Amino acid sequence: MTALMPTYQRYDIAFVQGDGAWLQGDDGRRYLDFGAGIAVAGLGHCHPHLVATLREQAGKLWHCSNLYRIPDQERLAARLVAASFADAAFFCNSGAEALECGLKLVRKYHDMAGAPERYRVITFAGAFHGRTLATIAAGGSAKHLDGFAPAVEGFDQVPFADLAAARAAIGDETAAILVEPVQGEGGIRPVPEGFLAGLRALADEFGLLLFFDEVQCGIGRTGRLFAHQWADVEPDLIAVAKGLGGGFPVGACLASGQAARTLTPGSHGSTFGGNPLAMAVANAVLDVVLADGFLERVAAAGATLRSRLAALPARYPGVIAEVRGHGLMIGLKCVQPNSVLVERLLGDGLLTVPAADNVVRLLPPLIIGESEIETASAIIDRVCAALVEKAA
Ligand SMILES: *Cc1c(COP(=O)(O)O)cnc(C)c1O
Repeated sequence: MTALMPTYQRYDIAFVQGDGAWLQGDDGRRYLDFGAGIAVAGLGHCHPHLVATLREQAGKLWHCSNLYRIPDQERLAARLVAASFADAAFFCNSGAEALECGLKLVRKYHDMAGAPERYRVITFAGAFHGRTLATIAAGGSAKHLDGFAPAVEGFDQVPFADLAAARAAIGDETAAILVEPVQGEGGIRPVPEGFLAGLRALADEFGLLLFFDEVQCGIGRTGRLFAHQWADVEPDLIAVAKGLGGGFPVGACLASGQAARTLTPGSHGSTFGGNPLAMAVANAVLDVVLADGFLERVAAAGATLRSRLAALPARYPGVIAEVRGHGLMIGLKCVQPNSVLVERLLGDGLLTVPAADNVVRLLPPLIIGESEIETASAIIDRVCAALVEKAA
């Protein structure tokens, strides 16, 4: 019996301590964490720089209102701006809030430009943007919308990565295009090459804002600070969260140009957003992620892991249908239900995360080493072999 709302289907294990890519279970076993709390603990568990920063800040000041200047907030914003397309940042506490900020910004932008009738946002099938009323409407998943009618108005969903359908969906009321450069919950689906550039051209042609959801694929996950940087395309705004606080809840909406000047005093805000504790930790995350060579090592680790997994579909065609993804955001598309693979891997000491499209996500901490990649690959190989035997 539990006093918790039955929101989650949980595995019957709790973790009591973490160290790098490893977690200690309350069953006394050690687990290799290839989920990282769903792409959150990018620097692994108990990274010494994050622990020291949090401890130091905890003894100074946890919270003060945005009624006052928060120097670490200004510093974090300046660093994110210097490393990206953006000119300004707004801080909040989660991915969905970062999306909400962006969706409000999109409406306000066109309102300020004298076109308040422009409020509709084009989204893509398989998207996930969060669990608030607006973000479940944006995501468009029937499973997430079920029982929560009426859906928030203003989203037009087109098939995944379909540029022609996106163009055809643009009307007089269209305000923006919202897309994940790599779909996460949707099953680790990177958009095809050239697609983001195609969207940029559409946005420019029709005066729309281009909005990337980098909540899961951002903050180094693909081997660049932001996933869209591989495509050499600049959005007007992005949402980030998960990896930004390394496990401390923090999100941000980053915007450029006029979009960066759209949310003015009184038009948006957050009590907790950007408080000193969160900002100290997020700055410490950037100390590591932006250090020389870090992102290159993430890209290299992603390539190594990918090469270790590449043979799976040929070796175990009855288990793994496809290996896909970008950097340290890898999806194993399963033949049998993905829950079977996730549970078997858990049983063998490897934590992974299920996703839609029958995919198992591998989202290890960005600090993952060679030997941990070898260990994980060996577990995956062994479990796949056992699943073949079971099926036979
Ligand atoms: C996780 C996620 C969100 C929602 O983030 P929360 O912090 O759970 O609100 C939004 N977009 C994407 C792409 C995500 O992966």
